[in-house]
Amino acid sequence: MNLALAGTLQRWLTGPRVSGLPQPTELPPPKLSFEFFPPKNEALEQALWAAIRRLEPLAPRFVSVTYGAGGTTRTRTHETVSRLAQETSLTPAAHLTCVGATREEVDEVARGYLAAGVRHIVALRGDPPAGATEYTPHPGGYAQAEDLVRGLRRIADFDISVGAYPETHPAATSAQADLDFLKRKIDAGATRAITQYFFDTDIYLRFLDRCAAAGITLPIVPGILPVSNFKQVQKFSAMCGASVPAWMARLFDGLEEDADTRRMVAAVVAAEQVRLLQANGVDEFHFYTLNRADLTYAIAHLLGVRPAKSEAAG
Ligand SMILES: Cc1cc2nc3c(=O)[nH]c(=O)nc-3n(C[C@H](O)[C@H](O)[C@H](O)COP(=O)(O)OP(=O)(O)OC[C@H]3O[C@@H](n4cnc5c(N)ncnc54)[C@H](O)[C@@H]3O)c2cc1C
Repeated sequence: MNLALAGTLQRWLTGPRVSGLPQPTELPPPKLSFEFFPPKNEALEQALWAAIRRLEPLAPRFVSVTYGAGGTTRTRTHETVSRLAQETSLTPAAHLTCVGATREEVDEVARGYLAAGVRHIVALRGDPPAGATEYTPHPGGYAQAEDLVRGLRRIADFDISVGAYPETHPAATSAQADLDFLKRKIDAGATRAITQYFFDTDIYLRFLDRCAAAGITLPIVPGILPVSNFKQVQKFSAMCGASVPAWMARLFDGLEEDADTRRMVAAVVAAEQVRLLQANGVDEFHFYTLNRADLTYAIAHLLGVRPAKSEAAG
């Protein structure tokens, strides 16, 4: 009997054969860093510290704490970062922006971090405060991240991270102009760039090609956002210029009222994204944790990262 090939068999015999991604055990565990935001109240503070304690044994290279839009969380950022320095084994990094402050005030915040034992600053221009649509430099302040990096370099030998935009910053006049600004921040003394989140790995890999062509040789660490609240991410992405692919909308479609399944889907999507990047040689990842440990922990586990054994446990 001569049956025509159909379904799976036909696809297997005639389509391209796809081998799997490398197993996590075949690659060195990636270097991780985690980002948190400063808590607004007592309950959120407890949730944040539970997340920090859960992620601490994964021994990230550093953990960073954001600075609210318009510089609104100056005190809370400082308190969280100082507590990280004093009470944990983690290396903290403080986000610092140019918004709404004079150079002297920003320098004073930076010196305060030095005094608290914090040597890593994520130097950003910052977004305008809520209600304002356009960024206006403070008359006596640092105008752009590039100026802030230069100012920090004058103060001390900080480790300085800056922001990078694989899909181009929304205010940039062109992708090339945006890349030129990144290069200027690096030339001013930054030690690495951390990217805005993206969902299609190709976007980041193409950006790496463009960075290399522009002579940027410092690490461009991909920012990874595990998505569990899809609606919120859609809204935020529209503002910050990150594209949300149609395949992702389809994955989360129908899960609006089902947070548990959304979380499982989110872990798989982010782990797949990171494993694909790893297969392409990327070995460093910055996770936007949104102050939750579960997704980041699960993804790190899938990547082969295990808690460091305490000395007492041998
Ligand atoms: C990893 C990361 C962490 C972040 N953390 C925070 C945070 O904690 N708090 C916060 O408020 N925001 C944060 N942001 C958001 C950031 O502040 C905004 O994206 C802001 O709009 C730009 O900041 P920047 O440091 O990249 O700016 P810059 O590098 O100074 O500028 C951004 C872009 O604007 C354009 N530009 C700059 N200078 C000029 C010029 N002179 N003329 C014309 N165009 C110019 C360029 O295209 C440039 O790439 C973060 C972003 C990233 C990627």
